[in-house]
Amino acid sequence: MEAEIITIGDEIISGHTIDTNSAYIAPRLAEIGLPVTYKSAVGDDLKKMEEAIHLALRRAGVVITTGGLGPTDDDITKKAIVRVFKRNLVFQEDVLEDIRRRFAARGIKMPAINQNQALLPQGAIYLPNRLGSAVGIAIIEDDKIFISLPGVPREVQVIADEELLPFLKKYVRGEVIKIIKIRTTGIIESALAEKIAPATAKLPENVRLAYLPSYSGVDLRVVATGPSEDSARESAERVALKIREAAEKYIYAEGEISLEEIIGTILAKRGQKLATAESCTAGLLAGQITRIPGSSTYFELGVVTYSNQSKIDLLGVQAETLERFGAVSVETAEEMARGIRTRAGVDYGLAVTGIAGPDGGTPEKPIGTVIIAAASAQTVVSRRFQLGIDRESNRRRTVYIALEALRRLLLGIE
Ligand code: ATP
Ligand code: MG
Repeated sequence: MEAEIITIGDEIISGHTIDTNSAYIAPRLAEIGLPVTYKSAVGDDLKKMEEAIHLALRRAGVVITTGGLGPTDDDITKKAIVRVFKRNLVFQEDVLEDIRRRFAARGIKMPAINQNQALLPQGAIYLPNRLGSAVGIAIIEDDKIFISLPGVPREVQVIADEELLPFLKKYVRGEVIKIIKIRTTGIIESALAEKIAPATAKLPENVRLAYLPSYSGVDLRVVATGPSEDSARESAERVALKIREAAEKYIYAEGEISLEEIIGTILAKRGQKLATAESCTAGLLAGQITRIPGSSTYFELGVVTYSNQSKIDLLGVQAETLERFGAVSVETAEEMARGIRTRAGVDYGLAVTGIAGPDGGTPEKPIGTVIIAAASAQTVVSRRFQLGIDRESNRRRTVYIALEALRRLLLGIE
């Protein structure tokens, strides 16, 4: 394995500060069998930083950046990481505790701005910083290890010696990394963690578990190391097996397969067809389903019925239902699902109605109220959800909630 170091900061490339960080890290990496084969420097420019990281990840197994992790606006390394790895920043309570403790020990009240430093990319491992509030970050993805350290040389030295080198040693002694990605949906991160706790409470030393939540659900990444491909795979598989048992009904796929792909595969295999009727998502659901090549074999028709009248005209929803229960109601959603199913002459009808926001909510039906219904020839199932206040994320999450409802109907999962 080879390593690359990227030093970040306008003051580095302009020559105002001489890079001593890479000079400290490089020989120590070589010592543990990780020769540095490229060094680069990039200014405080998001686009260029992204490019530098992408390039480095292409040519080295281990990429280490220093600089730009501070709490102020000019420190944008985390933004670049978020873009490169497509992971959101999430709050990490243990990091915040660490930072608080350090300020308390110095008898200073923690400035609010330092809270930002407890925001880490999803699934990142943190490398504590005894001297400052910017912690190091480690991300393991595919067969690459990415590390980001703060810029202050003294901090770099201490984190390198105490955290980074021991961490890397584990991976380089001819060790192989094996990752199993288990994709779940229909359950929030904390509830999932609770469910699989018995299976994951005592992980073997060579196995790590990361949670990666997104609109479509929560992905679990089991990362195992071992002296050989087989032993790493075995370690990962042993943990994955327990997770599968504990969270079975929430798992829709493993690896890179998406929810819409799984649904497509099931429908295609059975020779069945699907149609959609959307209100608040206005075509996003149909768009998501048809992202899959070959979806024309099972996707028959999708309509956007935004107004009450269109729900009546195109889906056969009863005017009385709309009057009595409203457009955002279980009753309407179910009539929409049944209506599109029979009118399209297909096996399954999937319908969505809701209040995406930012206005239009009422006390009984606040913003973020979403109702999805899925109909087959035998039955219609519906569920009401209470999402957040952000229009865009409500619309996106609703798409996956609807897909998940269909998956469950197709597989007969309660
Ligand atoms: P901070 O929390 O202090 O803002 P940071 O992670 O944001 O830390 P920078 O702001 O990039 O780091 O740099 C902090 C200090 O460390 C600056 O004085 C900078 O000149 C110095 N520094 C940064 N990178 C290097 C380097 N590669 N070599 C030597 N000094 C560096
Ligand atoms: Mg800074």
